[in-house]
Amino acid sequence: MGLSIVAPAMPAHRDEWELRLLADPDLLRDIAFAVGGPFHVMYPERVGDNVDGFRAAFAQAGVDGAIFYGKKANKAACVVRACAEHGAGVDVSSIGELSSALTQGIRGEELMVTGPAKSPELLWLATRHGALIAVDAPDELDGLVRAGLPARVLLRMLPPGSTSRFGMTEAELDAALRRTDLGPITVEGFSFHLSGYDPIARAELAVTLIERCRGAREQGHRAGTISIGGGFAVDYLSEGTWQDFLADSDPRRFHADKRFDSYYPYHAECPGPDMLRAILRHGNLAQRLRENEIRLAIEPGRALLDRAGSTVFRVQGAKIRSAHDDSYQLLTVDGTSLSLSEQWFDSEYLPDPTLWPDRPGVPTAASVGAATCLESDMLSWRRIPLPRAAELGDLLVYPNTAGYQMDSNESAFHQLPIPPKVVLYDTSDGQFRWTLDTR
Ligand SMILES: *Cc1c(COP(=O)(O)O)cnc(C)c1O
Repeated sequence: MGLSIVAPAMPAHRDEWELRLLADPDLLRDIAFAVGGPFHVMYPERVGDNVDGFRAAFAQAGVDGAIFYGKKANKAACVVRACAEHGAGVDVSSIGELSSALTQGIRGEELMVTGPAKSPELLWLATRHGALIAVDAPDELDGLVRAGLPARVLLRMLPPGSTSRFGMTEAELDAALRRTDLGPITVEGFSFHLSGYDPIARAELAVTLIERCRGAREQGHRAGTISIGGGFAVDYLSEGTWQDFLADSDPRRFHADKRFDSYYPYHAECPGPDMLRAILRHGNLAQRLRENEIRLAIEPGRALLDRAGSTVFRVQGAKIRSAHDDSYQLLTVDGTSLSLSEQWFDSEYLPDPTLWPDRPGVPTAASVGAATCLESDMLSWRRIPLPRAAELGDLLVYPNTAGYQMDSNESAFHQLPIPPKVVLYDTSDGQFRWTLDTR
């Protein structure tokens, strides 16, 4: 009974910078040595490219657009800096997020503040800085009125038929617009955020908001902006890889025959800026926006981080397990699944990690466990087909982790240090320079 590959490979799309990093004979080893534990790698240049992609989609459609990076997807300061440098604002939900956005060069009017029942202190700060505030509920508007603050607000709509806990009903929106006590508050427009990745649902709800703006203008409100939220898809895996997995995700291909009920949709036909193009095309939304002189805001989180970061663990243990007439390596790495947040959703992050360095060897399947004493703390239950047997000191590089995987969930569990973020910059002679992210 030899070691053999159990599951098909699920290679991620990779950006050119990652291929350069993986091909570099020393850099990953040097960083791993300096950091002395698991770490994340960020390449902010790619965030800038992603912002530029959305801006190009707006420009091609002749639409006045605004991009607000949904900051909850990653805490790194370098991401916000890239947004500031490329003309995107930031969507924040706490004083911490607001402060760090300002520190990285976002101006007050480039901030959007969302979230339910925002604290009075957050609302005060948002108003001081001239941020757009997405009002989530009538009592939040009451608070702003009582405070007499010159707030710029969007009214967040509860999408019709939705069970979301966010946003206001039609009747609540109507009542807000009829208020005569708004004083210095300006209603700049409306917003929504949908789960799922359907461009058509977004385009159609946007049309409803355009109609709302027209009505609100008749009532004397400014109503010149609508925000269609985030939820721009990311394409992690090729269609063939993803369809093959869905067609045959045999639990025997997972350590302990683990089963998951659902997975993130790792392949997207129409990701990021292409999804924005599809939204703008549907029902001639672009033209309707132009005719009504309405600015379209978007709040992408995940999509601005596409291919902008990876997560690196060191192999510190390797044992052999057998099951179903096959054997595989059960690896232990120096971090935890808290740095790969898909387990929040009782699911698994599927794109294959790369075993580094690249050396010849016998293809070997491996599942990956964390350096903790929890049975459930696995980074990969799936028996990943690695090109050779992993050895102590090897690195496992999980691709495309910047969007939500990295730090949404990290804690110093077991008093293990939280992995730092290493930021890669290009020098003029085509080399990498690295530094630590400042937060
Ligand atoms: C989470 C969130 C976003 C970002 O969503 P992504 O799926 O990362 O694009 C944008 N807007 C609001 C209101 C959100 O809650």
